Amino acid sequence: MWEEAKKHLAGGVNSPVRAFKAVGGDPIFMRQALGPFLYDNRGNKYIDYCLSWGAILWGHADESTVRAIQRQAAKGTSFGTVTEYETNLAKEIQKAFPRMERIRFTSSGTEAVMSAIRLARGVTQRNRIVKFEGCYHGHSDSLLVKAGSGLATFGSPSSAGVPAALAALTAVLPYNDAGAVNQFFKNADDIACVIVEPLAGNMGLVPATKEFLETLKKRARANGSLLIFDEVITGFRVGYGGAQHLYGIEPDITVLGKIIGGGLPIGAIGAKASIMSALSPEGRVYQAGTLSGNPLSMAAGLAVLSKLSRNVYKSLNAKCAVFLNEAKAIFKKRGKDISIQSAGSMFTLFFDTRCPRNFTEVRRTRHKEFKQFFHKMIKMGIYVPPSAYETSFLSCAHGQQELDKTLEAFKKC
Ligand code: PMP
Repeated sequence: MWEEAKKHLAGGVNSPVRAFKAVGGDPIFMRQALGPFLYDNRGNKYIDYCLSWGAILWGHADESTVRAIQRQAAKGTSFGTVTEYETNLAKEIQKAFPRMERIRFTSSGTEAVMSAIRLARGVTQRNRIVKFEGCYHGHSDSLLVKAGSGLATFGSPSSAGVPAALAALTAVLPYNDAGAVNQFFKNADDIACVIVEPLAGNMGLVPATKEFLETLKKRARANGSLLIFDEVITGFRVGYGGAQHLYGIEPDITVLGKIIGGGLPIGAIGAKASIMSALSPEGRVYQAGTLSGNPLSMAAGLAVLSKLSRNVYKSLNAKCAVFLNEAKAIFKKRGKDISIQSAGSMFTLFFDTRCPRNFTEVRRTRHKEFKQFFHKMIKMGIYVPPSAYETSFLSCAHGQQELDKTLEAFKKC
């Protein structure tokens, strides 16, 4: 199947990380996903800790979500008109994110972030933006940028095909370094927005310090820049109200994705009405999408979100904390230098004596050992994301039996 895939799909995949380049070996073709499990084409069953990169909260093929999708599919899959479904999902999101006074849905996180950046540029009438090393915000041009050399704050493209002239408008600063942010803003008064993952999930899980986020907020405000929280992973994952609620820090613009679509394609941008009114058709910042607000995504998202409460997170997060404490005890007893970072139901095993605080420290962890760990876990029927730079997730469908089996595997890995 892999040989066939490579003949017909670019690189055999539709998203690069699926090719297993970071861990080696051929990728595993999955044919079904139910509850906490993935099933491959050879009939093997895996306990899934990737959960479609965090998009799945209740477990795969969650009954009420499937029913909602089926009901909607029977009524039509895309209308290209206004529907009440969009308003209903927006209302459900606003219960948890009241600062998202107006919402615009897109079909992916990438698209939502890309539009949020355009919105910030349009509102502030400025071009330059700031992002942080190790944060991923999708694959739009302005964000596929890495730090420039030395003291230069101009970014350089991290992908072929991104014009250097555009990358130069993106400054890339070290994550969790409030000093660097303060220093940067001393010489920059033309920044449209600062975008950050408040709990970074794309270099493994690296939470921001409160001081760092407060500095961003303060500097952005003082400079007339907008603060964007990319909560594509963390929104509806770490708790009701996302990371911004956990930290008690309000961004100007919030970007969501993944869980709000219940496993169907989605993204969302939200902010105060006065900011969102800059988007077309009200304002002059153009943004559109044939499948935006797609009825199937709206139905799946509504099915997932309408069952949520603070209690759901309390029990999911407690389950994760107990599981990880046991895992830590196992690694300690075995004398393994593995540290575990977690937030709610997100976690990463770092092959290092302590949890990294930024991308430089993540790069120093023992990646070779992660590769061995990954393949051992696969053999024992446990699927973790196939890269040391990713975050694992727990769903509401993971039961004690699955967690115990995973802990047993940790004793042998
Ligand atoms: N922002 C963050 C924080 C993400 O983790 C991702 C995807 N993993 C994106 C944006 C892009 O979302 P999508 O893959 O849906 O385009």
